Amino acid sequence: MLSIRFILFCSLLFAFVSRLAAADWKVIQADGRDYVSFANVAQFYRFPQFSQASRTVSLRGERRGIRAQAGTSEFYINGVRFFSNYPLVARGDENLISAMDIAKIVEPVLRPNKISGAKKIDTVVLDPGHGGDDSGTSGPWGNEKNFALDVALTAREQLLRAGFKVEMTRSTDKAVALEDRVAFANRFPTAVLISIHFNSASGASGVESYALAPVGVPSNASTENHSGSDKMEWFPGNAQDAANIALSAAVHASILSKVSVFDRGVRHARFHVLRDSKIPAVLVEAGFLNDRVEGSRIATAVYRQKLGQAVAAAVTNYHRAVNFQTSGPTLVAAASNLPAHTRAITDSLGEEPPPSEATPTPSAAIRSLH
Ligand SMILES: [Zn+2]
Repeated sequence: MLSIRFILFCSLLFAFVSRLAAADWKVIQADGRDYVSFANVAQFYRFPQFSQASRTVSLRGERRGIRAQAGTSEFYINGVRFFSNYPLVARGDENLISAMDIAKIVEPVLRPNKISGAKKIDTVVLDPGHGGDDSGTSGPWGNEKNFALDVALTAREQLLRAGFKVEMTRSTDKAVALEDRVAFANRFPTAVLISIHFNSASGASGVESYALAPVGVPSNASTENHSGSDKMEWFPGNAQDAANIALSAAVHASILSKVSVFDRGVRHARFHVLRDSKIPAVLVEAGFLNDRVEGSRIATAVYRQKLGQAVAAAVTNYHRAVNFQTSGPTLVAAASNLPAHTRAITDSLGEEPPPSEATPTPSAAIRSLH
């Protein structure tokens, strides 16, 4: 395992550093891994302001910012929460982030136009989770399978209007095997795959978006089981690591900018559809059906339409960002319109977001599906 990791880090660092000019990075060993300091990150990405108070760092520019705290496994880019692949650590006066996190998260999110191999896309494969006998999770106002399909149908409408072709793994209430979903998606080489789900867990609310975990990185799936794998080996989806995180960031930020919801972060896991997808893929858990407030919101057609619109807008953002060949905006620029993050970085996951809008009455049934 050690030797595999060693080779991995060497090849990762080689690929990363050789592409980005080796002289600019000063690599620091910590916990047997390659790390760089946040001061180095600020310098490399030309953030004009860098401040550090004890273990908390802030990097700021005109249109972008990073916040982080050593000792945690998360950081914020433009106010959007990302779970790091490895813990952020402190060494002496310096606060460090792993080279893996720079290569696999910070770089593709800050500079999506430099993602090597990111293709122009003309098609979107929408994958509403579950269906048929498999209802997915449920809450007092309905089942995951119906809500996920409804969000996908709104997204389809919007995406067609925006000029994309849209394919769906299911457009009715029928069961589709996970391997059939991903095999279907892989028939469209110039597409992205967006899998839509809802969550359920006691005491939790909010939205989380999943990209495939990079090789060697443990999964951090929170609740729902989507046949993930504990194996940290290479999967076909890993060929798209950079595009996967860029797409996940775009979808996550777009949802946060459209609805008032707790940010449970852009995470990484090895769900089946992510592992075997040959095209950029994201799995979004768009809220908790069992949560009293969130579940009742998801049960309204208006809220699900907003989610569908957010998914569609995210595709347009992603498409523009990866194909912007000069100095593109960051993918999460949309989130700069959000109010300042009111939570401390160390706040626990399960807390309720502050109530900012009246809870709508759940509709008796979601609008009729065809
Ligand atoms: Zn699900």
